[in-house]
Parts: sequence; C-alpha cells; structure tokens
Amino acid sequence: MAGSIRIRAEILKEMVHHAERERQTECCGLLAGSGGVITRIFPVSNSLASPTAYEIAPMDLFQLFRRLREEGLEHLGHYHSHLRTENFPSEQDIAQAYYPDQAYFIISAQTGAPRPVRAFSIRDGHVQELKIEIAASGL
Ligand SMILES: [Zn+2]
Repeated sequence: MAGSIRIRAEILKEMVHHAERERQTECCGLLAGSGGVITRIFPVSNSLASPTAYEIAPMDLFQLFRRLREEGLEHLGHYHSHLRTENFPSEQDIAQAYYPDQAYFIISAQTGAPRPVRAFSIRDGHVQELKIEIAASGL
C-alpha cells in the first residue's frame, strides 16, 4: 500500500449509511475488490454490541473469507465507526490490527465531523493515514 487506497464512491457512501443506521453501537464490516480497488462492502454485526469497541465474530469472518474466495475477490480493508470519539484508530484498534496490508476505514458518527471518513494503515503499532482516492464506477 503506497500511502493511498482506491475505493468506489458508492461503497464509501454505503459505509457512511451503515454508520448512520447504527446509532448505539459501532458498526463494522469488510471491504473487498480487485486490482487494489475496493468495489464491494460486506457489513457485519458488531459481536460486542458496544458503543466504544467492535469485533467481528470468528464465524462471520470465516464465512466472509470463504465468500471472498468463492467470488475471487481480494480482501482489501476493514471499516468501523466511532460514535463519540475522533475517527482515528484507538489504542484497541491499533492493538487488534492484524492485517498490516489492509486499509482500516473509520467513520465518524458525529454530525458535522470535518472528515467523516478516514483511512489508515496500521503496521506493528504504527499508524499511517492513507489518502482516499475515489475510483470511477462501473466496469
Ligand atoms: Zn475504533
């Protein structure tokens, strides 16, 4: 990952809509695509049902990974929302970032957030912000 991540506009929009629907708990999901471009979104339920943390149940993750394999999709990222804190990785997010080559999108559920969606690379406890590039839709 070279400092940026490419994603289709409609996926970005869906991610924000998911965060808007979940007002009491952090929302989360997986992002996938091909050729390094995120073209698919897989919303998952937050197994912690917490307003300050999230976790994808191992069974959900297992089923999602199988689906990605079946559809020939690359797993490119994760997303979750922050309800009341800045959309920057929390200590827990950093500690639980097991995929150094993936983009971690964080959506702010606060109205009027200056940057409602941000993306990061988290590698060995080191956080680097990624530039979000909108890829043209439709192929
Ligand atoms: Zn978080």
